[in-house]
Formats: sequence, C-alpha cells, structure tokens
Amino acid sequence: MSDRITEPTAADLPTNCDRSDRAHRAWVTGAIRQIEADAQRSADTHLIRFPLPAALGVDLYLKDESTHVTGSLKHRLARSLFLYSLCNGWLHAGSTVIEASSGSTAISEAYFARLIGLPFVAVMPARTSREKIELIRSYGAQCHLVEEAGAIYDAARELAVACGGHYIDQFTHAERATDWRGNNNIAESIFDQMKWEPHPIPEWMVIGAGTGGTSATIGRYIRYRGHPTRLCVPDPEGSVFFDAWRDSDVTRRGAGSRIEGIGRPRVEPSFVGQVIDRMVQVPDAASVGTAREVEHLLGKKVGPSTGTNLWAAFELARQMAAAGVRGSIVTLLCDGGERYGHTYYNDEWVAAQGWDLAPSRALVREFLGS
Ligand SMILES: *Cc1c(COP(=O)(O)O)cnc(C)c1O
Repeated sequence: MSDRITEPTAADLPTNCDRSDRAHRAWVTGAIRQIEADAQRSADTHLIRFPLPAALGVDLYLKDESTHVTGSLKHRLARSLFLYSLCNGWLHAGSTVIEASSGSTAISEAYFARLIGLPFVAVMPARTSREKIELIRSYGAQCHLVEEAGAIYDAARELAVACGGHYIDQFTHAERATDWRGNNNIAESIFDQMKWEPHPIPEWMVIGAGTGGTSATIGRYIRYRGHPTRLCVPDPEGSVFFDAWRDSDVTRRGAGSRIEGIGRPRVEPSFVGQVIDRMVQVPDAASVGTAREVEHLLGKKVGPSTGTNLWAAFELARQMAAAGVRGSIVTLLCDGGERYGHTYYNDEWVAAQGWDLAPSRALVREFLGS
C-alpha cells in the first residue's frame, strides 16, 4: 500500500515539453523580412501583346517572366520555396540549402540564399548551359554536376544528408509552396493585367511543365475564380508528361527532355494533371525554331521553352480562327535567350543535336504572315 503513495502517478509526470528557441525565431523573422523587402523593391512583370495577324481575330499575350531580377519565372518559385521552408521551420542560421535543378531554379534560389545569408549548392545535369552555371556561381553558390539528368534528385538528397543541409526539392514542393488562390501569384497577376483587354478572360492559357507548379497554380486559379478558360500544356519530345497524362499512368518513365526548363523523365509530384484540359507534343526543332523565329517580332531573344509555348499557342489560335472563335490566348515568356548563346542560339550546336530548324521556321513565318 505504501508503494502506491510514493510511486508517481500520470498526473505527476511532466506534461510540458518546451522547445522554444527565441534566437531561431528571430532569425526566421529576419530572413522572411529580407525576402518581403526584396519583393517590395521589385515590380511585377509585363504582359506583352504578341503581334498575330489581325485577320485571325485572336489576341495573344505573353507574360514576360524574363524581367524578374533573376531572369525567369523561377524567381517566383524560389521566393515561394524559401518562404515555405522558413515558415515550416526547415531552415536555420547557417543551413546549407541544396537543390536539384536544370539550372533556372538554381539561379533564382542562389539569389535568395545569398539574400538571407545561407550557403547554396545546385545539383544539375552536366549538360546545363555554361551561362547558367556562371550565373549561379556569380551569386556565390556552388554547382555540383552529375552526368545523368535522372540522377540529380538522389544526388541532392544524399548531399543534404552528408552535410546536414536542407534539400529544398522544387519538384515536390512547387505546387504547394505557391499561394494558388492569390497573393499576386502569376495567375492573379495575369487576370488583373488582362482587365481592360478586348477579351479579358482568355479562351486558353498555355504553359509547359517542368515542376508542373506553374500549370498547377494557373489551373487551380481558373477553377477557383470560375473562369471558362482552358489550360493547355505543351510537352517536348522525350518528356514523360504527355504519355503519362494521356494514359493516366504516373508510374511511366521517359528519356528526358532536351528543352531546358520543361519536360521531365518522371512524373514530378508537383505535376497536377487533373487541372489540365489539353496536352500537345511539340517537336524539339519546332520549339527551338519558333524561339529563334520570333526574336525580330519581340525585339528580344527568348528561351526554348517559350518557343514550345508559342508553337502550341499558334496552333490554338489557328484552330480558333478556323472555328470562327474570337478571343484571347495567354502564354508565358519563361526566360530570355541570353542564357543559351552557346546552345539553342548556336547553329553548330543545334545541328549537332540533329535538329533542322528550317521547316518549322518556315511554318511560323507563313502563319505570322497570313
Ligand atoms: C521551370 C521552367 C518552366 C516550367 O515551369 P514549372 O512551373 O516548373 O512547370 C518553363 N520554362 C523555363 C525556362 C523554366 O525554367
């Protein structure tokens, strides 16, 4: 009986476990403030009118994401991923941040890592353009190159374990890190900028998928706002997205893409197929040919994934005109062509890929002159 009195009961056990860390919280607050201040100093990107022949009765717009400080639509993603990681308590003062990337994301993340004072390592395929590697290094980050594109994920995860760092993982977190209902995400910004156009609600929005994050945000936003706009995702050769989506089989594997930024060898967790209305396959030579052909119309070089978007948008415009439908199409200028001087804008390199750009360039010229 006396035992019972001295033995601690459940009520006597400590029920408080306090892990508060004021220094850590102060650091997180400071880091978020830096990122918010950076956004406050930045302007929104332009929505450019693309000069389609007036006779088509279709207006085409390009959301010019190349004008972000880090030169691509990945600026939005990198900002969202850092805020998400910070608010989840995943980053600490001194954490090494690691990413698997085909380059553009790493450029933008290197920028934000430096902004909040964290070391950054980009794990990328060895064929990533020299210009991108130089940009990443210019932000004080390191590049870790792997031969095979499909090996970047495991390499990044292993590196994070080895150095006690954080694998930020754009391919998993892109779709959930972005505030899809608004907060000036890319979709909200586009619809706001379209407000005074002749056809403010687009018939189609066209966006290729890399992580799938941008198409997920746009597709969700269209539904949330109740717009009839349809979402078309063009996919390059070798990417698995098209086959996997058509056959509703996310276990498929593909060879991988030769159009930087879009097309993947596996169905990324951030790819939300249910919000996509149509997918089209675009030949690589058409993507690159279109990108090169529109330079004189836009007064600037665009990256190859913008060529993919425009090729698909032209086809939709042609179909709308043939069906007598008047309206608008919005697509993205994902990044500029300056990053690809040694590759897609180099004739020898293009020829070495086995691509003949002449037929697609002639088709684009003919379409735009019609
Ligand atoms: C990432 C990227 C895309 C595709 O965007 P996601 O949101 O990742 O699907 C398109 N073009 C370029 C140049 C990119 O870097």
